[in-house]
Amino acid sequence: MRINVSQQLKASIGSIRNYGVSGIVNVAGGKSMVQGEVKLMRTDRSILAKGTLHTEVEVTCSRCLGLFGCPLTLNVEEEYFPITDVVSGASLPLPEEPSCFTIDEHHVIDLTEAIRQYALLAIPMKPLCREDCAGLCPNCGHNLNQGPCDCLPPEAEPHWSELSKLALASDKVVNEQKGTE
Ligand SMILES: [Zn+2]
Ligand SMILES: [Zn+2]
Repeated sequence: MRINVSQQLKASIGSIRNYGVSGIVNVAGGKSMVQGEVKLMRTDRSILAKGTLHTEVEVTCSRCLGLFGCPLTLNVEEEYFPITDVVSGASLPLPEEPSCFTIDEHHVIDLTEAIRQYALLAIPMKPLCREDCAGLCPNCGHNLNQGPCDCLPPEAEPHWSELSKLALASDKVVNEQKGTE
């Protein structure tokens, strides 16, 4: 994810170059392939990197606890500040922004850290492996996406007998009413 910008640092303010980027980034303990396009623009003080990148990270489903690949779209926009003057080679003062990204002394931008941070922010708080994920049986922990478990019928039985009791009771009421008429 490294781009040499020495030529662009010499270019006039507002000049734009497009780069296709692809590479592996470590996100949340796993390696993710990242691909996309980045537009680099020379500003009066920096190189502005702007682009849309696509990746997939392995996360745990919040319902069934299964691992799955969650696709992420990253709209990256970050400024990179030179620390060395590209013409004279002299050191430049760091910008006042804390924890900003810099262009190293070889005039190379490394997008990896920015991409990692954007990817971490893009991971949903409660990821779902699919929208209708059936989750786990609260009784035995079986993954209900793989079909029903053995403890479903006993759970269903009392429910049905309750219903039939109600049905019998209402029959009785109807019959009693008929008797009083
Ligand atoms: Zn799930
Ligand atoms: Zn079960």
